Amino acid sequence: MNNLIISTIGSHSALQILFGAKQENFNTKVYCLKDRDSLYRRYPVANEIVTLDSYEDLLEIAADSQEIFIPHGTLIAALGDKLRDISIPMFGNREGMLWEMNRAKNQKLLETAGIRVPRTLKSDDITELAIVKFPGAMGGSGYFVCSSSDEFDTKINDLVSQNKISDYDIKNAQIQEYVTGVTMYPHYFYSGIYERVEMLGIDRRYETNVDALGRLSQNDHPVEPSYKVVGNQPLIARESLLPQILEHGDKLREASTNLFAPGLIGPYCIEMAITSEEIVAFEFTSRIVAGTSLYVNGSPYSKILFNEEMSMAKRIAREIKMAMGQRRLQEFLT
Ligand code: ADP
Repeated sequence: MNNLIISTIGSHSALQILFGAKQENFNTKVYCLKDRDSLYRRYPVANEIVTLDSYEDLLEIAADSQEIFIPHGTLIAALGDKLRDISIPMFGNREGMLWEMNRAKNQKLLETAGIRVPRTLKSDDITELAIVKFPGAMGGSGYFVCSSSDEFDTKINDLVSQNKISDYDIKNAQIQEYVTGVTMYPHYFYSGIYERVEMLGIDRRYETNVDALGRLSQNDHPVEPSYKVVGNQPLIARESLLPQILEHGDKLREASTNLFAPGLIGPYCIEMAITSEEIVAFEFTSRIVAGTSLYVNGSPYSKILFNEEMSMAKRIAREIKMAMGQRRLQEFLT
C-alpha cells in the first residue's frame, strides 16, 4: 500500500476515481455531503469518508503533502473559480478549469487550436436554425432553438413573462448555428510521463428530451428540445474518423500549452458533433468527464493501448505512481 491518499468529492465520477486509485494501491478519501455518505459505504471504494455541510468547506481544509485531489465536474459546478483557493494539491492544471468554466475562454482555446466551432450569430440576424444558450446553464437546461429573429424575440418574451430569464441572461445569451450532427465525447489523457496524448474511450451523452424526440412525430406534435444530461452511452467511432479525433486531441493540448502553460495535464475532453462533412466542437473540459465511468473495466481503445483493463481513473493513478517513481510528481500537480 502506498502512503499517498487520493481524494475527491463524492459525486460525478467519484466511484470510478476512488476505485481506480485503489487498483493502483493508493489510500482513498472521499469528501461528501451528508446525504451521500451511505453511497460510499455501500460501494467500498473509500478508505476514509469525510462529510461536509457544503462543498465550500473544502476551502477550509489544510494542504496535506500526502494527499492528491482529483477534480471533476461537480467541483467546478459547486465552487466555480473559488477552486483556485483549495489548498490540497490537485492532479491537473487548475488554470485549465478556469478556462473551461468561462464560455469565451473555452471557445478561445478551441479556436486557437484551429478546431471548428459553431458560428456565432446575432439576434437580429438569424436566418438559419440556431441554438440559444444562457450563461451558467448547466447541462443545457433552458436552451432553446429558433430559426429566425422574430422567433427568437417571441421565445425570449415568453421566457421573460414566465420569469425564467433575467436581463443579464438575455444580454449574455450565446446564439450559435445549430449543428445537426451525432455527438461524441472522446476521453483524452495527456501523459507528461510518456509525452503523448492518449485517447482512452468515447461516450455520447443521453440528453432529455432531445434524444427522445424521434419517438414522436414532430410534424403532429412539435416539442421544444431540451438538453439535460441524464446518462451516457458507450460509443466507438468509425475507424476512418479516428485520425481526426486524435488530431483534435493533439491540437487542443498543443494550444493549451501556449494559453495556460504548462497546458492540459491528465484527462480532458472535447464535446463534439460529427456531421456528414466535418467535426464541430461545442466545448472542451479540462478534467475527467462523467462518461468515462462507463469504462471501469477499460474501453476498446484503452484495452488496445495498454493490453489491460485501464479506466481513466486507473490511468490517472498510474501516472501519479510513475511520476512518484521518477520523482516528478510536482510537475503534474497545481
Ligand atoms: P453545458 O455547458 O450547459 O453542458 P453545452 O454547450 O455543452 O452546455 O451544450 C449542451 C448540449 O446542447 C450539447 O451536449 C449538445 O447536445 C447541445 N448543443 C450545444 N451547442 C449546440 C449547437 N451549436 N448545435 C447543436 N446542439 C448543441
